Amino acid sequence: MSYNLFMNKKLYVISGCSGVGKGTVINEFMKRNSNDFVLSVSCTTRQPRQGEVDGVNYFFLTHDEFEKNIKEDKFLEHANFAGNYYGTKKKYINQKLDEGYNVVLEIDTQGAFQVKSKMPEAILIFIVPPSVEELEKRLRGRHTEDEATIQKRLAQVKIELERSQKYDYTVINDSVERAVEEIEKITKK
Ligand code: 5GP
Repeated sequence: MSYNLFMNKKLYVISGCSGVGKGTVINEFMKRNSNDFVLSVSCTTRQPRQGEVDGVNYFFLTHDEFEKNIKEDKFLEHANFAGNYYGTKKKYINQKLDEGYNVVLEIDTQGAFQVKSKMPEAILIFIVPPSVEELEKRLRGRHTEDEATIQKRLAQVKIELERSQKYDYTVINDSVERAVEEIEKITKK
């Protein structure tokens, strides 16, 4: 399958440790760049959090629906993260690139490397916290996960920080404003 990257439209993959505040950074980036950037909506089997809307935050699929899509090779990438499936549909990405948007994927490291191997021109950005202690504080302060899930996510952090070394860019989220500006500089290169 071919991926349409004409008109200099690019695919950006943004990852970060759980609770690093990447959602806030990405939302701010999207707000400021909405005329030519679009945020990809992923599929997942995890339960919606309060306020999340199907088709807006994620496409919420059952386990069976997700596995059917894997079998039918519908995903550009997919991964199992903290016990749930997450994935990006090929069709969705191609549609957005065809419409003339740069596409931002907010996905985990497993997915990022799958994208990079299929689309080497994709740009990988990893958002890191100023420190691991700060990250744990943010994760607990969110009050959206139970203790077991928090523990699973913290274990994942170590693995992810190691993998971040293979990204094209690392951005420290010490301030949302500064992190967004740094990402904007990267997209203008
Ligand atoms: P959350 O459950 O907090 O929304 O997301 C958990 C993790 O899954 C985050 O690291 C997020 O970046 C990642 N994620 C979200 N969508 C996708 C996707 O489509 N593919 C992959 N590989 N990871 C995803």
